[in-house]
Amino acid sequence: MPEGDAVWRTAQRLQRGLAGRQLTRTDFRVPQHATVDLSGGTVIETVSRGKHLLTRIDAPDGPVTLHTHLKMEGSWRVFRPSERWGKPDHLVRVVLGTTERTAVGFQLGVVELIAREREHDVVGHLGPDLLGADWDEAEAVRRLLADPARPLGEALLDQRNLAGIGTIYRTELCFLTGYDPRTPVGAVTDPLRMVRLARSMLDQNRQQPQICTTGDKRRGRSLWVYGRLHERCLRCGTPIQHAELGEEGRARVAYWCPRCQPPR
Ligand SMILES: [Zn+2]
Repeated sequence: MPEGDAVWRTAQRLQRGLAGRQLTRTDFRVPQHATVDLSGGTVIETVSRGKHLLTRIDAPDGPVTLHTHLKMEGSWRVFRPSERWGKPDHLVRVVLGTTERTAVGFQLGVVELIAREREHDVVGHLGPDLLGADWDEAEAVRRLLADPARPLGEALLDQRNLAGIGTIYRTELCFLTGYDPRTPVGAVTDPLRMVRLARSMLDQNRQQPQICTTGDKRRGRSLWVYGRLHERCLRCGTPIQHAELGEEGRARVAYWCPRCQPPR
């Protein structure tokens, strides 16, 4: 699943391809908007909020926002008129065409058109955006600690606390701060350091396609523990453990080194 930095890059791509351009063709291949046609409208901008994308369009009937979310498999690509899309047609969910570029959303998990003034309804619940201009570290800490008994790994993934962290970053953050992801978040001694580290990790990765938290981009060396099943800790050599973490139905896999991240 794309994390906040990948969603941020997607917003940049859509911004470069569409901002300020007039739509000559639109196609919404989702049942609730199948008959909508926004051609003639102008794309104002695309911004990311955590893992959500908001594409603001001044449509002929008034200002609307296209809210999309990549979820597990989704992507947005931008093509020149002569380029092939390179993916089967049945994966297409949205087409936003202009004379010079066509943006195509594939396998998007959320596609909804809302009135511009209703954006708060879809992103208002989010905690401070780790890559947002309005990042607020004190508010992020307050939200993170709201339920002190909650396992750290779960609290970090909850987008109402911090917006933008996915399973890779939560795993690597726990490693770098030395906490077992099952530790109650209230037992973290320096939560401010934790949220600052989260922001700096996303910020350092926002311009590159592969997440690297170790400073070593070689294959198999770029992450401390995430995805390193049956391997040894890069720091101490202890076999890495893993488990599903989270509420029933929403659990995600977590990895940790039992020596570098002892139970507390
Ligand atoms: Zn270790």
